[in-house]
Amino acid sequence: MTEARAGERPSGSDASGGAWDDEIVSRRLVAWLDAVLAGRAPNAGHFCGNCYHPRQAADDDCPHCETSVAEAGVVESVPLEVIEGHRRRRGREGAVVRTIAWVGLTTGVVLALIPLAFAGVTWWSATAFFGLMIFFYIFSANVANSLGDAWGYRWGLAIFRRAWEQHLAARSDGSAEDG
Ligand SMILES: [Zn+2]
Repeated sequence: MTEARAGERPSGSDASGGAWDDEIVSRRLVAWLDAVLAGRAPNAGHFCGNCYHPRQAADDDCPHCETSVAEAGVVESVPLEVIEGHRRRRGREGAVVRTIAWVGLTTGVVLALIPLAFAGVTWWSATAFFGLMIFFYIFSANVANSLGDAWGYRWGLAIFRRAWEQHLAARSDGSAEDG
């Protein structure tokens, strides 16, 4: 069974911008959110108060959204709803890839059994069984890793975008009440 690595994109420009223009938040924040989900990093540090880009130093303008510290401030953790949105994004990416792989394999098993069911075990129905199984195994792994990866990426990104926009709306409501 091919274990597709959900969320990993084909190689492209890893610098900000370039092939990663679809990302809603900075690449460093995405990598950092992955680390938090994997338990490799605590939800603590210095983050841009506007876009939550992880900061080395707290005093310069944000290198990602270029908002000044005076304007955006620095926060010491990323809001939980942003982390939760990222968790659901990764979950959906994996589910799409796994679902496509299993649908492909199940189709293969059903089709491969048809010759055996109608002709009994003969040299050709047995050969067809194994041939179809091998074909669908390779076929579904490839579709899952290409089409499934692309669909999962789009779908997952849409989920994160909703969570992100809800967070921004709630954040601006909060600051409107404060001010
Ligand atoms: Zn920023």
